Amino acid sequence: MEEWKMSTVTLHPSVDQGVVQGNAGFTGGTLRCLCKDDSVEVKVSTNVAHNHACGCTKCWKPSGAVFSVVGVVPREKVEVTAHAEKLHVVDAKAAIQRHACQACGTHMYGRIENSDHPFYGLDFIHTELSADKGWEEPRFAAFVSSIIEGGGAKPEQMDEVRARLTELSLTPYDCLNPPLMDAMATHTAKRNGILS
Ligand SMILES: [Zn+2]
Ligand SMILES: [Zn+2]
Repeated sequence: MEEWKMSTVTLHPSVDQGVVQGNAGFTGGTLRCLCKDDSVEVKVSTNVAHNHACGCTKCWKPSGAVFSVVGVVPREKVEVTAHAEKLHVVDAKAAIQRHACQACGTHMYGRIENSDHPFYGLDFIHTELSADKGWEEPRFAAFVSSIIEGGGAKPEQMDEVRARLTELSLTPYDCLNPPLMDAMATHTAKRNGILS
């Protein structure tokens, strides 16, 4: 591949032209799958939290994107309001069960059914599926090195990818960011009696 220029590093269509700031007073909106007709609709009655770019191989990405953009909301704030019959679980054995439209493949929400999981109670959503404006902007990048596994970048391109993420204020991490890693470790420490 030719040398990448900073301006030609494409990560995800919602951040490539600059991250659009959210609105702290935003109270949610409707996600729609990419089907032209009979689209699946999911009503989310709160703003998203911990929104970030994710380079893992499991998160849904729009066509051509190297990263997904994904955040969390409490599961009780998520309601399928149209065409639930089109949804199926992509991998029932995965920790996060991704409910996707069988017709267009879009992941509408990811749910954790294991009550012992550190993030139990939170659903994972992609706010780009909503036409509503004001969703909290992505604030970091997770699992950046995994884009090599997904075929999104060659190892020698990673310096430029990380530089571009940093330029966009999406601080790159090769796992989750420190607050989420600390939350998971705290959950494990409490379960094992190390912390009370
Ligand atoms: Zn669809
Ligand atoms: Zn991911």
